[in-house]
Amino acid sequence: MSKRQTALHRSVSPGGGPACAPAPKRSRTARRGLSRAEIAEIFRRFAAADPEPKGELEHSNPYTLLVAVVLSAQATDAGVNKATRALFAKADTPRKMLALGEDAVRDHIKSIGLFRAKAKNVILLSEKLIREFGGAVPQDRDALETLPGVGRKTANVVMNVAFGAPTMAVDTHVLRVSNRIGLSDGKTPLAVEADLLAKIPPQYGVHAHHWLILHGRYVCKARKPACPVCLIRDICRYPDKTL
Ligand code: SF4
Repeated sequence: MSKRQTALHRSVSPGGGPACAPAPKRSRTARRGLSRAEIAEIFRRFAAADPEPKGELEHSNPYTLLVAVVLSAQATDAGVNKATRALFAKADTPRKMLALGEDAVRDHIKSIGLFRAKAKNVILLSEKLIREFGGAVPQDRDALETLPGVGRKTANVVMNVAFGAPTMAVDTHVLRVSNRIGLSDGKTPLAVEADLLAKIPPQYGVHAHHWLILHGRYVCKARKPACPVCLIRDICRYPDKTL
């Protein structure tokens, strides 16, 4: 967020603006950002409560993680895990996936949305991994993003979970939580990613993405956040906390 944006953001009073201005549309996000000290305290609490947060997509190596993340677009982790258990038992490397073939991959993942396109991408990315990367999953974002079906968010997840890089994958949970509590007023995943990378203390960089996802999934839920049991309730800037 720029200094100008910050100043504008903070000029809005908790009451919603100057008395002579027309009533603003009710905000569903924080009205002012958090201080550095408050952000550090939020992540100190997340770390104390869950020192080693884990993602929920089942995988056994960087390749199966990559495939699982590609399959998870517009699908739940539980739904993906249900489909990949049998798939990965047969194919946990690019070569085995190619040997299995697109029709069989499609059959394994047919319970997941967009399964036809995803099966095609799994085969294409496996071919490319063999052809250009010696069958290994590359560790840098630019290379990952050249793979079929892999965008910035997927690349960030793979770099973080498989290789321990302090990347910030912004999904719907991370975006919502960041806007609500005052971590970022960015409206796009890229803007929120940039804010979070700049604001979260580096010692929390590797786990921050998981803490925010898990917080959004189980506590700061989209429809009815569980504010009464939230461990950062006193710091959060969301104006419509539940009672
Ligand atoms: S207090 Fe409520 S809105 Fe704020 S982070 Fe916690 S659950 Fe979300």
